[in-house]
Amino acid sequence: GSTIGILGGGQLGRMLSVAASRLGYLTHIYEPGTAPAGQVCAALTQASYEDMSALQDFANAVDVITFEFENVPATALDLLAALRPIRPGTTALAISQDRLTEKTFLEGLGLTCAPFRDIGSLSALEAALTDLGTPAILKTRRMGYDGKGQVHIRTPGQAQTAYAEMQGQDAILEGYVAFEREVSVIAARGVTGEVVCFDPGENVHECGILYTTTVPATLTGAQRTDAALLAGRILNALEYVGVLGVELFVTSNGLIVNEIAPRVHNSGHWTQAGCAVDQFEQHIRAVAGLPLGDGRRHSDVVMENLIGDDMDRLPDLLATPDTQIHLYGKSEVRPGRKMGHVNRIVT
Ligand code: ATP
Ligand code: MG
Ligand code: MG
Repeated sequence: GSTIGILGGGQLGRMLSVAASRLGYLTHIYEPGTAPAGQVCAALTQASYEDMSALQDFANAVDVITFEFENVPATALDLLAALRPIRPGTTALAISQDRLTEKTFLEGLGLTCAPFRDIGSLSALEAALTDLGTPAILKTRRMGYDGKGQVHIRTPGQAQTAYAEMQGQDAILEGYVAFEREVSVIAARGVTGEVVCFDPGENVHECGILYTTTVPATLTGAQRTDAALLAGRILNALEYVGVLGVELFVTSNGLIVNEIAPRVHNSGHWTQAGCAVDQFEQHIRAVAGLPLGDGRRHSDVVMENLIGDDMDRLPDLLATPDTQIHLYGKSEVRPGRKMGHVNRIVT
């Protein structure tokens, strides 16, 4: 096949598209929202995930389907999966759409997550706060990203206002993890089952949004091995094909899995400057059934997201040596909006 369908027209889809085009493939992007300016692709469909005939046309126009947006509704996925292979599969998607099913799945693999409780009512929240203690974080089960849909609870007395902020959405309460650092592992699995991991990156978040990723991360050899092994365990359990992001908390008691993302991941953008084959090419290789490539780190890199009016620094960044600039072509600058990123090659 030579046309790859991508669900989602944001920056991740755009960078996947560039990687696919470098390997000689066409891409066709399905984006229900407004198309971002400067999208690189053969065609861009603007229709909703409820529009069954548009979804059908999309599937018929491509050879294989992947996604950059994991919250595609199940009905749309079922329709698409009946027509074309979806990589990674619908199981990976369904599990990671819901924090409760995701954590249950991860614990079932023998991995450690932050302690959590299912919250369906205010009284469930009060009981969970007694159980897990404070501080704790209340998170919507679905659709959250960049720290959206999360409320930090510092004292049990904040239960009622925190619960009201969920606006009736299903939620989980997570115990607070006093981590030493945050790292992530970007891993890939090919159609024949081979698994490769990029070097773990160390992540700094501000207000719930990823700010920088630095490689190499400060980790012991044992922690590096653990990170790769747990990523492999997740990939194999899901019979996954493609790139997966695994966010981890490093603690004195070992690695705790924060969450997984069934796609290329912001904390893997450093691979564009640090590896011969970056996460986008690796994902396209997997989805297209090609052998996985050489993802070894050849350089130390600091990736920095350009968020909101960080864009004011663009003239300086354009004049900075050893700096690779990626802009997403978004016309409107908003606070907290990811506008681009830079990869600074350190050595
Ligand atoms: P993403 O954009 O990565 O999908 P998200 O909205 O799904 O983010 P999380 O990854 O759950 O949010 O949380 C964002 C950040 O908040 C984490 O990277 C971490 O810094 C902090 N955080 C989340 N959960 C916990 C926890 N249980 N204990 C301590 N810190 C936490
Ligand atoms: Mg998330
Ligand atoms: Mg996260």
